[in-house]
Amino acid sequence: MRIIIIGGGIIGLSIARVLYKEGFEVIVVERERIGRGASWTAGGMLAPQSEGLEIDEFFDFCIQARDMYKSFVEGIENDTDIKVDYWESGIFCPAYSEEEAQELKKKLEEYRKYGLTGGWLNRNEIEDNYKSLGPEIIGGVLYPDDSQVDNRLLMLALENYIRRKTMVKLYERTTAIGIFQTNGKFQGVKTDKGLLVGDACIIAAGAWSGEIDNIPVFPIKGEMAATDIEPDDIDRVFFGSRAYLIPRKSFTRLVIGATEENVGFKDGNTVKGVLQLLNGLKDTFPHMVERNVQEFWYGYRPGTPDTKPIICEGPYENLYYATGHYRNGILLAPITAKLFLDLFKYKKRSKYFDIFSYKRFEEKENE
Ligand SMILES: Cc1cc2nc3c(=O)[nH]c(=O)nc-3n(C[C@H](O)[C@H](O)[C@H](O)COP(=O)(O)OP(=O)(O)OC[C@H]3O[C@@H](n4cnc5c(N)ncnc54)[C@H](O)[C@@H]3O)c2cc1C
Repeated sequence: MRIIIIGGGIIGLSIARVLYKEGFEVIVVERERIGRGASWTAGGMLAPQSEGLEIDEFFDFCIQARDMYKSFVEGIENDTDIKVDYWESGIFCPAYSEEEAQELKKKLEEYRKYGLTGGWLNRNEIEDNYKSLGPEIIGGVLYPDDSQVDNRLLMLALENYIRRKTMVKLYERTTAIGIFQTNGKFQGVKTDKGLLVGDACIIAAGAWSGEIDNIPVFPIKGEMAATDIEPDDIDRVFFGSRAYLIPRKSFTRLVIGATEENVGFKDGNTVKGVLQLLNGLKDTFPHMVERNVQEFWYGYRPGTPDTKPIICEGPYENLYYATGHYRNGILLAPITAKLFLDLFKYKKRSKYFDIFSYKRFEEKENE
């Protein structure tokens, strides 16, 4: 069976890897170079609790993905000999005001009742661990089970895996421009280089997915920054309302994120974006204004009208969507790949194909 995957981001490549391993013929179509879309620009947090997500089916999906992550990265590391710096450091969510503290405590209680871990720490319980701590921080919540991965290393590893498998046909610098179907059945992908024929197709083109098949996905721009770091600057991710700060496991880089704007594909870092990020750092660890800046960059999250992904059958037989992962696509890669493995290998259709169907938006429109 020949499966064409449109998009070589973390979602497309994770699906390609598991399907290839099970003996499927896999074709990846990528407009630019694989692994350099949103998945390259992300923070790499695996953080359903720190994100403060509402408890619902999507939250469950995220928690399952977090539980799968260790074995997901171990599998990729074993396949490629590339370490991707997965780090179960826990994530601390600082409160910069009493109001924020109340909100964080409320969420913490909800998660605890749901059977998840977490605890409140007062300022005096953490202050001595750091060279400086922003004067407004009154305490915060520690979620020990939230974690992180170096998403760029992960993308390099996935890229390495796909490139070395000569049986995975890789068409880079090739743009999918539409789906070719007859009698409601998928036949092939129209590209700027010609038609690619296959038995099934998965559209995993991130924020650009809507350009291919009218899927309700749109870009949500995020700006990022990185600075140098010294080993005793910060020992785990700090995820605050002003910025999130992600020390890489190698202690060679602090990643600072992220702005969030619905401005379409508008390239470049802005002065206000950079100010927001660096002020967030200064408000959290004032001494870090002495560190050298390494990089500023930006990326496009694949957004959807309800911020949840679109993982489902498309309008034609043998056409599927795996997109719209918005703020959590790094986290959700292993579980998204598993849904397609279960579908193609075991003919087991997950309930998530209904929950995350694009049809939920049509139903809303018709109400
Ligand atoms: C600033 C920022 C911070 C983030 N932080 C986190 C985080 O901490 N944790 C987390 O879990 N998630 C995070 N995310 C979200 C995460 O990065 C995305 O949800 C995820 O990368 C989406 O993966 P993808 O494979 O769908 O998209 P992408 O990685 O964007 O890949 C899509 C690919 O499709 C290709 N493509 C597009 N159109 C076509 C076409 N017509 N033909 C062929 N190829 C095409 C693109 O070139 C691209 O390579 C963040 C995102 C941003 C922008």
